[in-house]
Amino acid sequence: MTVRTRIAPSPTGDPHVGTAYVALFNMAFAHSQGGQFLLRIEDTDQTRSTPQSEKSIVDALRWLGLDWDEGPDNGGDKGPYRQSERSTIYKEHADKLLENGHAFRCFCTAERLEELRKTQMEEKLPLGYDGHCAGLSEEQVAERLAKGEPHVVRMSVPRQGQCTFNDMLRGEITIDWAQIDLQILLKADGMPTYHLANVVDDHLMEISHVIRGEEWINSAPKHILLYQYFGWKTPVFCHLPLLRNVDKSKLSKRKNPTSILYYQRMGFLPEALVNYLGRMGWSMPDEREKFSLSEMLAAFDIQRVSLGGPVFDVEKLSWLNGMWIRDELSDEQLADRLQEWALNRDTLMAFLPFARQRMETLSDLAPLGNYLVSGMLPITAEDLKSAGMEEDQLIEVLQYALWRLEAEQQWNRDNIFNDLKAIADAMDINLKSFLAPLFIAIAGSSASISVMDSMALLGADMTRARLRHAIDVLGGVGKKKLKKMEKAYQQLL
Ligand code: GLU
Repeated sequence: MTVRTRIAPSPTGDPHVGTAYVALFNMAFAHSQGGQFLLRIEDTDQTRSTPQSEKSIVDALRWLGLDWDEGPDNGGDKGPYRQSERSTIYKEHADKLLENGHAFRCFCTAERLEELRKTQMEEKLPLGYDGHCAGLSEEQVAERLAKGEPHVVRMSVPRQGQCTFNDMLRGEITIDWAQIDLQILLKADGMPTYHLANVVDDHLMEISHVIRGEEWINSAPKHILLYQYFGWKTPVFCHLPLLRNVDKSKLSKRKNPTSILYYQRMGFLPEALVNYLGRMGWSMPDEREKFSLSEMLAAFDIQRVSLGGPVFDVEKLSWLNGMWIRDELSDEQLADRLQEWALNRDTLMAFLPFARQRMETLSDLAPLGNYLVSGMLPITAEDLKSAGMEEDQLIEVLQYALWRLEAEQQWNRDNIFNDLKAIADAMDINLKSFLAPLFIAIAGSSASISVMDSMALLGADMTRARLRHAIDVLGGVGKKKLKKMEKAYQQLL
């Protein structure tokens, strides 16, 4: 058997360090078995998927050197490798399940499902679809189809018994079928959900080992059942431990920057980031901390993955990055890296249209643009207070801006402006005063170009990280206060 693995990201945001981590282990396993590693784009959620996100994921994985043998950009004979181009395949497969009685059409309206949820909550019953449409006769279905009633296709799942399967790292896992919902496979718009598309593609792309994050363990029974319904061989499953924040909670952008673009902008070397990701639950046989991708590939053994939640600690990453800079790069090479990174014409060309109005001499550029090529800024509580706000309000402005910008899907100047204006209006603060502390948090000084332009240039993750840093500089917000603020924020907007 040829070993084939894949990474299957959904292009719905910035490229996540968790995606790179899972890609690295898939690549390393395929390599250790003389197999192949694929990239598949899971973009069936048309409302959330964007081509920009796909491009940034592809670029980020390439930047890290996690190259794939087959994928949407480099082809292969099991394509297309983008799910939005495979919808007829999923439809055919859903039809097969319907024909064989392994799936059923469900005409329940959103209102009925909402009612059902309410009743289940009130009566403290397990939540989930109750199988209402599973018993419709063929005639009833035909009649409703003829009327053109919108419907979804759901899979049939036994209500009794258990599903037992084997995980490469965890051994036997048993889950009650009663816990598994009657999953929607095809949505009302005819597009498949993750579960159907993922299983069909893993089979057609001849994936032998599904190596993915542990958040998918509970989906495995559905997937296994689908393999059985289709009469296909089930791949081997391997669920990697999730990356964690330093406080051991699941790695989240609310606590830690998670976008690879952030680490790129901070000036981490791709080699160091890959090295650090390789240390997430895995170690070299000789336990050394610094190793290259090719050294990891040569030594990889998946059984050395340990299941204790690996902590993604930016301080440790910085330490490792420093070692890479000092030990591995000559001055010439470091100069090249700095130029590739940000000390180049592209940075200047993006910034000069804003900066030139404020320049009298060429040397004025450095103080104006310093914040663009920096990490966290050395600001103090006094700097922030100089914006002329009471401390409580200062924290509210920064935190509300942070929450609002965390929800922004399309990062550009106009959207950032609308987000900030909406909060300023809701708080009844004039825009100029509202923006004053943001200037300090983002650019370190009020004598800077428009803060919205700065945020657009810095990118979403660096902007959020600086806002979070400013809140920390002011002493942070305790859990209780944060809860209160969250309520107030929700009522405000
Ligand atoms: N599209 C899924 C994700 O975004 C893939 C999960 C899997 O590997 O099966 O994580």
